[in-house]
Amino acid sequence: MDCLFCQIIAKKLPAKLVFESDSIIAFPDINPSARVHILIVPKKHIIGLQDLKKEDGELLSEIFEVVNELVTRYNLKDNLYRVVVNGGKAQHVSHIHFHLLGGELKKFV
Ligand code: 5GP
Ligand code: ZN
Repeated sequence: MDCLFCQIIAKKLPAKLVFESDSIIAFPDINPSARVHILIVPKKHIIGLQDLKKEDGELLSEIFEVVNELVTRYNLKDNLYRVVVNGGKAQHVSHIHFHLLGGELKKFV
């Protein structure tokens, strides 16, 4: 298994998990682009946006529930935040992930 995020999911590589369920993990980005920069990652190895299937609909709604929980936890509701999914050459890890960026953004991801 040479997928970085699958190795984090399998606890073979360390990450400070801020959320974990049967289907999703979330942890801080190692190179943050904002005061709050969390990666929300489904445990299912889906490569990217274009590989999503209709059957992943429930998983996507769970991902946005986690986003909302973290927005509340990090007091971003009345601050600025955005959710980013990179694709194509903008995506560096080939396991779909959702960047939650909040507070002062340092740069665009
Ligand atoms: P992408 O460019 O694929 O949308 O985002 C990948 C993100 O993963 C980057 O923001 C990068 O900083 C982050 N990242 C890469 N390797 C690691 C790692 O080993 N641990 C953590 N926590 N984040 C990582
Ligand atoms: Zn993977």
